Amino acid sequence: MDQIKIGKFISQKRKEKNITQRKLAEQLGITDRAVSKWENGLCLPDASNMNQLCEILGITINDLYSGQIVNMNQKETKLEENLLEMAKLKEQADKKMLNLEIVIGYISSTTFLVLVFVASFIKMPTWLSVLLIIFGLTTFFIGMHSALKIEQTAGYYKCAKCNHKYVPTYASVSLAMHINRTRYMKCPKCGKRSWNKKVITK
Ligand SMILES: [Zn+2]
Repeated sequence: MDQIKIGKFISQKRKEKNITQRKLAEQLGITDRAVSKWENGLCLPDASNMNQLCEILGITINDLYSGQIVNMNQKETKLEENLLEMAKLKEQADKKMLNLEIVIGYISSTTFLVLVFVASFIKMPTWLSVLLIIFGLTTFFIGMHSALKIEQTAGYYKCAKCNHKYVPTYASVSLAMHINRTRYMKCPKCGKRSWNKKVITK
């Protein structure tokens, strides 16, 4: 996806409609800085204001992602290209999140261990050591919760029985037995329990 091309296209369409960046931002309920960022190719519009933006500019979402008005003959190829590109972007984002999960898990458990160590082996008033342990536990639980949330939502779990790929609920992920990222869960499609591997591609 060519962000620069898309940005120029948004800018061109906006000018054709005689709308200022500010006016467009107002209509979408966002800042004019955000509009300027799109037009300079620094980022893409969020999914949440995509529809309204296209409506205002009088283009389709397919046009927007292509950075040009897509004519009838190339319509389907362009749509396919854009969907593929979007799937790729999601995969990249998911991979980043899963790496972040490792970092979060590592930092929160290290913090916990260090604080417990300090509280037990260094002489200090009781209230201080209790405070340190409470702080350590809080960090640990917040860290584990964020890590688990990432694991639930990034990518998919693949059922070992029917190969169905799905995003499970937070509860089923947190309660499932697991070896690293492979979790023993019930597949929503075939209803059988098996060791579900984490996969990135749908
Ligand atoms: Zn299944």
